Amino acid sequence: MFQVVTDAIVLDKEFTYDAHVRVHLFTKECGKIVGKATSARKITSKLGAHLEPLALSAVQFVQKNHLPQITDALAKRRLPPEAMPVLRMVRMLAPEYEPDQELWALLAGESPSPSRVLAVLGYDPLFASCEWCGKPPSHFSLKTLFFVCAGCVPRCGASYDCAAL
Ligand SMILES: [Zn+2]
Repeated sequence: MFQVVTDAIVLDKEFTYDAHVRVHLFTKECGKIVGKATSARKITSKLGAHLEPLALSAVQFVQKNHLPQITDALAKRRLPPEAMPVLRMVRMLAPEYEPDQELWALLAGESPSPSRVLAVLGYDPLFASCEWCGKPPSHFSLKTLFFVCAGCVPRCGASYDCAAL
């Protein structure tokens, strides 16, 4: 068991069946991790705002049974709501436990561009074309990992979970 303290961006948060909280983080030191906060009610009241999506927080966790247990968190600031699609991309595409300083700098910087974040994650829109018609893409489907152009987005529907580039 060892302890880690790192800055982290909260990508997502979900409540598990046993009332714990599972927090998806992109950390500066360890890359993407999924941490568990036990005693959900306590941690929700004490750490709630510090573990909400879009928060950039200093996070402390211990590595225990292959699952990081979050023991403390302190929000430094919040990313703008427009960053949410980009955070979903990171949650979907970034490998776990692979620190990426370029990606960290993008996310922690001013309004991270979806195109640049996708490029760092290995899906560069520059070399992509619409999966349906071959035109230059305007959106990326988080469901299928396809690029789609503005004209074809309506054909995709909500299930494709398309984010604008
Ligand atoms: Zn198209």
